[in-house]
Amino acid sequence: MIPRPLRLLVMHVSTRCDQACAHCSIWRGSQAPPKDWGVEKRLAVIQEAQTLGARAVLFTGGEPLLCDHIETLARETRRLGLTVQIATNGLGLQRSASWLATLVDELYVSLEGPQDVHDSIRGRGMFMRLHDSLRALTAWDVRPRLIARSVVSERNADVIDRTVDAARDLGFDGLSYLPIDLSSDAFGGPAEARAELRPTAPRIKALRQAIDRMQALGHLGGFVLEDAEKLSALADGFESADGPAKAPRCNAPEWSAVVEADGAVRPCFFQPATGNAVSGLASSRASAGYVAALRGLGAGNRICASCVCPKYVPRGLDLLRGRVGRALGWMTPHAALRAGSRA
Ligand code: SF4
Ligand code: SF4
Repeated sequence: MIPRPLRLLVMHVSTRCDQACAHCSIWRGSQAPPKDWGVEKRLAVIQEAQTLGARAVLFTGGEPLLCDHIETLARETRRLGLTVQIATNGLGLQRSASWLATLVDELYVSLEGPQDVHDSIRGRGMFMRLHDSLRALTAWDVRPRLIARSVVSERNADVIDRTVDAARDLGFDGLSYLPIDLSSDAFGGPAEARAELRPTAPRIKALRQAIDRMQALGHLGGFVLEDAEKLSALADGFESADGPAKAPRCNAPEWSAVVEADGAVRPCFFQPATGNAVSGLASSRASAGYVAALRGLGAGNRICASCVCPKYVPRGLDLLRGRVGRALGWMTPHAALRAGSRA
């Protein structure tokens, strides 16, 4: 891989979190991280990202709604004509509803299952807090697209179809599943600390049955963003002790960059930082360390081999094949899209 024109900037704006999830250790961090950047540096990175071709900024954390200048960042991103996305635990939606409704295009909100399951993973009472928080936003006529994001683990793998019902009841517009990350430090602390959350064989069997039920009910590839093929691959990944046997198809580091709360730049959410955006995003992406890191991704890279969120955007011949296929009716648009993205 080599750095190409930027399309997506992922910006961590907080290292704090007000939730204590079973599959994450970020909440165990310090309460007042001294190295977190302030608003001016972050605005400069967003402005530079736009000049580099970015079309969207995804704000994340920790919990991004705990950042005291997130509204300013979202407003500037919007002013620059970029899509505004936020990944949040949802607890702060109520206090931020007025600006979220008008400035944000897509909100990814964590939902782990029906009330009992969600609370067992995210803490007692958290489902009802999310319910109340979401109501402040769903009441608006104009509001962001609300996508529930669910991390599949031993705790909820057998009930992922019940998560669909919970998501609909809460007013979400869609639902997406992600396997628990068991190989990188992206969720804080050592990956081994999450080993007990790897689904066991009986749970994986129950997961496959839940996928079949969702397929029969027509949920997949619609309200549920993933199709049966992709969810089956998710189950397959749990069955291999070290994740998928070969690196998934992914070129995310070519067209996106991740800037941590202290300005550190990573090629993607899971790979180690190689520089800092304080001297500019362009120079950081062009540095020898960054370019070398990108060359080391893909086949043979330990983190890529068990990555839970690869992304492939077709380009060149792949893109052409998809377009020609659609034009000639070889593939439905959905199938063509799947062909160009690792599933
Ligand atoms: S997964 Fe998200 S909401 Fe949960 S503790 Fe980690 S940062 Fe907080
Ligand atoms: S496969 Fe995963 S870890 Fe590897 S580059 Fe893609 S997003 Fe990063």
